[in-house]
Amino acid sequence: MTMIGCCIPSPDTSDRFSDRCFNIFPCLSDPARRSTFCLRLALVMLHLIFVAFIFIFDQHFRDQSKHQPWYTLIYMLLVVATLVQYFFTSGSSPGYVLDAMRDFARTEASLRVSEVSKQPASSKNGSVVVTIDRNQSGEYLSGNNPMNWTKLVMDMYPPGTSVRTYTCSYCNVVQPPRAKHCHDCDRCVLQFDHHCVWLGTCIGQGNHCRFWWYILEETALCIWTGILYIKYLQASFDKAWLVDVIMIVLLSILSIALIFLLLLLLFHTYLVVTNQTTYELVRRRRIPYMRSIPERVYPFSKGACRNLYNFCFARTSIYAMEPLPGAIELEQKSAPYTCFDVISCRCCC
Ligand SMILES: [Zn+2]
Ligand SMILES: [Zn+2]
Repeated sequence: MTMIGCCIPSPDTSDRFSDRCFNIFPCLSDPARRSTFCLRLALVMLHLIFVAFIFIFDQHFRDQSKHQPWYTLIYMLLVVATLVQYFFTSGSSPGYVLDAMRDFARTEASLRVSEVSKQPASSKNGSVVVTIDRNQSGEYLSGNNPMNWTKLVMDMYPPGTSVRTYTCSYCNVVQPPRAKHCHDCDRCVLQFDHHCVWLGTCIGQGNHCRFWWYILEETALCIWTGILYIKYLQASFDKAWLVDVIMIVLLSILSIALIFLLLLLLFHTYLVVTNQTTYELVRRRRIPYMRSIPERVYPFSKGACRNLYNFCFARTSIYAMEPLPGAIELEQKSAPYTCFDVISCRCCC
């Protein structure tokens, strides 16, 4: 009986153990965060398995590492950079509409404070007294200025647009153009692209650039690891068949992942160059303001070069919003291409 008592933990013991685990890793107590934690752990393990097989079984790679340590160092740097980029992207904010609203409120509140401080201040015992309406300031800081936000957002749509059309029924906020409610995050996201299950977050205005770099790094790592696997198989075929079988299975998984990553990279590069999102491309007919725009016209595009520059460098804030182009601009974009347009690179500038 004593033996059984020692081997099988009592419910109290297991509860105490789980409580201790939750104290050390609080993310494990929340089912949603637990699944994200498991996903991230699985991704790290997957990377380590693929890299470890090269180090353990490839004698040629180990010999090469001794003679050319820089080669292995660059490869390991790419592995680390890819993992860091993954965590960097998954932990970054995609740019939520509610946060943009708060940011706008904070800016307005600071402007109001500076305006009040510019007004003639009353003097008391030689010290300057600045009067600030505390209630109003608090209201602005908490983001409860829906009228100003509504006006700001509705000015981005053509005149006469109904507020109700663009009010999210879940968040109860007015969505700027290109925003969409994500049911996984349960929030409206600026320039919503898609909800990435692999990263456990939405891809939107705030992290699309990081996402693109992550795909690029993952693709490069996949290609390099694949080349190392092929080199190993060429050098040691028929010597250790069990290892070879494992290597062939891993290489097959790598090849499938590489095809997927290359297609994803090409697709997102196309989206960046044309300043579109996956949602706008796939669900074009569902977006009210996109329905009247011809298929081949990209309303938010400012030319391929400008789009690339804006995507990589020019974004000052993740809460910056793009208004819908006016009727004249849309008409110019809809005009058919002429020989002169091709020569002058209309699509680029
Ligand atoms: Zn929403
Ligand atoms: Zn989401």
